[in-house]
Amino acid sequence: MNPAQLASLSTLEDTLAQHGARPVHAAQLLRAWVQLASTAPRGQDPARFLPRALHTAWHQIAAALDGLATLQSRHPGEDSSERLLVRLCDGQAVESVLLPRGGLCVSTQAGCAVGCVFCMTGRDGLLRQLGSAEIVAQVVLARRLRAVGKVVFMGMGEPAHNLDAVLEAINFLGTHGGIAHKSLVFSTVGDARAFERLPLGRVKPALALSLHTTKSELRAQLLPRAPRMEPAALVEAACGYAEATGYPLQLQWTLLAGVNDGDDEAATLAAWLRGRHAMVNLIPWNHIDGMPWQRPDTGRTVALARALKSAGVLTRLRWSAGQDVDGGCGQLRARALGAAVGATDAPGEALIARPAGRPARIPLVSVA
Ligand code: SF4
Repeated sequence: MNPAQLASLSTLEDTLAQHGARPVHAAQLLRAWVQLASTAPRGQDPARFLPRALHTAWHQIAAALDGLATLQSRHPGEDSSERLLVRLCDGQAVESVLLPRGGLCVSTQAGCAVGCVFCMTGRDGLLRQLGSAEIVAQVVLARRLRAVGKVVFMGMGEPAHNLDAVLEAINFLGTHGGIAHKSLVFSTVGDARAFERLPLGRVKPALALSLHTTKSELRAQLLPRAPRMEPAALVEAACGYAEATGYPLQLQWTLLAGVNDGDDEAATLAAWLRGRHAMVNLIPWNHIDGMPWQRPDTGRTVALARALKSAGVLTRLRWSAGQDVDGGCGQLRARALGAAVGATDAPGEALIARPAGRPARIPLVSVA
């Protein structure tokens, strides 16, 4: 069986049904795949629990699922994060990031159409969408390396641009995947379709909004192909969803010196967020030669965090996980393809607290 035939979860479920799976069998097999569990309930023999034809077919199906996402290389960081270069069945490559405390950042697209000017992934545009099973397959792959109890959709791609597949993956992980709904984090640059669909799902994830500036014109320059919604309207829609679910909005802000790190930005943001169910992650951009942006100095970064905190806004300073291994979103992939390495800090929970300092580069570690 060709793995590409199973790239979507609905096709996988249809395939199981065609081989005689009743709902109880399908649920057991899907759990077995995503949780690395047995194909039969505890204490039962899979050969007796499953219809014979299905038991035979499952070996082929499982082998095809294994081919959806394979490990190309591993890049351990200094902070217990680890970047993974993941090969898809057609030879495309995406990145996943193992995060401290059982988190995993997954990619939802190969490439990205939003074109954020500080992001390597955005440079190539969209190469292709990932199927919902390819997104879940990154979780399965990661679970073979360490336990995963939280999944953030903040890797390569804009989840709102692949909405059906991402919502299907979220629903799957929140039902068969053993992951709490609040531990699934949908990240977006802001898209009306996402704000409409998220509240309708059976599994409602937490929400992260990559805002980066409160200024409409500046945002259009930094995120040139993001949907044109006014920043204030974006924040209002995102806070409304967060308050309906009870999970705080995570507002992401990549800091570029002299561009979006002014006191005026902090004042506007504080006015919008005061009293709302939201927190801000400030992410100093990680400078690498060849890009025009600068990372704000520590004093400026801390001053902004203090300004927000003193205005009553929960604020964290964050650093990209795996910075020490060319860790920005898209850089591993670019290196693997032999492209020149630029600089990027993708927004997202590939973002965790790290000490400041110029990262060292660590060579690619190939996986046999
Ligand atoms: S930062 Fe995210 S949304 Fe922007 S181009 Fe990169 S992957 Fe796309």
